[in-house]
Amino acid sequence: MTGEAEEENKRLSAAKVDWDASAPRSILFDDIYFSGDGAAESEHVFLKGNNLAARFSSVYVFSIGELGFGTGLNFLSAWKLWRETKKPEDARLRFFSVEGFPLGADDLARSHEAWPELAAYSAKLRAASPPRIPGVHRIELEDDVALTLHYGEAREALQRAEGGVDAWFFDGFSPAKNPAMWSPEIFAECARLSNPGATFATFTVAGDVRRAIASAGFTLEKRPGFGRKREMLCGRIDTPPASSRRAPWFQNAKPSRLQPGASLGVIGGGVAGASIAHAARRAGFKPTIIEEKGLAAGASGNPAGLIMPRLDLGGGPASRFFLHSYLYTIRLLNEIGGDWFSPCGVLLRAENDEARARQKRLLDDALLPPDWMAAREDGLFFPQGGVVDAPAYVAALAGDAQFIHASVVSISPDEDGVTVRMNDGAAHHFDALVIANSIDASRILEARALPLSAIAGQIDWFPDETPPAHAIAFGPYAAPAPRGGLVIGATYEKITQGAAAQTSLAATQSNIEAVSGILPGLDANNARPRASLRCQTPDRIPIAGPLPDLCFFAPSYDDLRLGKQRAYPPAEVVPRTHILSGLGSRGLVTAPLAAAMILTEMTGEPSPADHEIAEALHPARFFIRDYKRAQHIRKK
Ligand code: SAM
Repeated sequence: MTGEAEEENKRLSAAKVDWDASAPRSILFDDIYFSGDGAAESEHVFLKGNNLAARFSSVYVFSIGELGFGTGLNFLSAWKLWRETKKPEDARLRFFSVEGFPLGADDLARSHEAWPELAAYSAKLRAASPPRIPGVHRIELEDDVALTLHYGEAREALQRAEGGVDAWFFDGFSPAKNPAMWSPEIFAECARLSNPGATFATFTVAGDVRRAIASAGFTLEKRPGFGRKREMLCGRIDTPPASSRRAPWFQNAKPSRLQPGASLGVIGGGVAGASIAHAARRAGFKPTIIEEKGLAAGASGNPAGLIMPRLDLGGGPASRFFLHSYLYTIRLLNEIGGDWFSPCGVLLRAENDEARARQKRLLDDALLPPDWMAAREDGLFFPQGGVVDAPAYVAALAGDAQFIHASVVSISPDEDGVTVRMNDGAAHHFDALVIANSIDASRILEARALPLSAIAGQIDWFPDETPPAHAIAFGPYAAPAPRGGLVIGATYEKITQGAAAQTSLAATQSNIEAVSGILPGLDANNARPRASLRCQTPDRIPIAGPLPDLCFFAPSYDDLRLGKQRAYPPAEVVPRTHILSGLGSRGLVTAPLAAAMILTEMTGEPSPADHEIAEALHPARFFIRDYKRAQHIRKK
């Protein structure tokens, strides 16, 4: 099965379910998803096998990992148990599962219909289920419950996964029918992803399976099985191997695991800072936004911002990040969106043969399924996309975060937290800090070496103009503003470091000229221009992650300049300090997922992105590239 699953990696095959049997049966694997009384089996084998009722009652964050999401019945049972258990305030349940052949919504509904007590959970799950696209889908189902689905071949998905698991459900069909899900390599990855003391449970006691699980370091214990099965298997791992799959310079030698209730300082009140505040509340943290100018004063303050995907061919980590950030933000908007989000759809117009050929390749590669990306004569249409009133979006993300109206002068990070000093003389202490203030990050000593640059941009709003029914983008764009009127944009102009963006008539005329082919006759006198700065990086990929400690980097990785292959130590980073910046003109779409990645890195729970994406966005990448480039220059 593995080979077939790998071939389908561009776009996953759907499950094929036979409903004639007494229980849903996979035609591909010739095996049942669960036995007749699936919910009772799930409770006996997986919930009781991992002693979840007792463990839920005393934890702050509990992460379950599963091999084979299937119908999601195990997940629903665990979620229901979580809801019914009395727990510490702010406790969080995380459920991480891998699936190579996702079931459609109808099959999910049919699989769950025998259990009315699960109906409400099932409905929520189906409403939030992601499209069948490979990669990591993080679904926030309730304030305290998040599901992280890795769609793809199990071994590859586990190899890319990050974050600790407290209890495993090994549920990948019978080992005789599907040995690929029970191999020593699979369990070695599970051991790597385990927190100390993690347990597992499974329905099988097959000899090969016992040996494979034991070889990964788990202890084994046989218990009475469910129904007609005499035995099942449980076990635990007290000292999991500490082996990250990241390159050493992208690891964190001393991660601090923060718990719900932690205070988080967030420097910056744009979409980056507000997204961090939103992700922080979901993690149970208490965020405080520090911003002198108020929310959405910069580039996040435009009256219309496009919500559309950036689609890159090739399937590399950056393209996976951009694609999944779009899916994540659409889910988020469906959950929190108000009248400030207009899901009017976005047309990516193909203006010439080159653009048409590229769009054809995107369709051939099936980056998005047809109901998410429709081919039209004039381009590609994204029906779920749309336009946000950016300040209202930022305010919704910021929610009830505390606010400090001041400008940061300096930060003092240490192992216990970060003290932030303000221009008004005040100092505040937080358990952790995220620098999310766009180009102004360069004013903070610890972030100064990052290669951030500013680009000025102007948009023009025509409040009385009738806009097109949906947004149209082709480099320039024209969009219906959610509060009425038409917005066109945007210019890109180099600007000297430290200068403020200024509106100009020339920029308005340039915006009008750029859209004149689709919207002729706009009058510059009716325009309300707005100029702001966007912050970008040399590789046009955002920066999200812990700030590298350059005093450690230079001596520790200097041998990279000489091309030396040796065991390099894991990186030391500025304690408890992360950065989210360099979002360019796509921050409205990319900030929420990048923020969720940062928060899970702080808590150690399963990440909403794979480790290659984390490396692609890691702040240290520029320094490591410089070291390696020096090596090539030396060789010339
Ligand atoms: N836990 C599920 C539930 O609650 O309904 C049942 C899981 S079912 C027994 C096994 C699942 O593993 C199937 O959905 C199947 O598609 C998936 N699977 C099997 N082999 C796989 C592989 N190599 N990679 C990814 N998923 C796989």
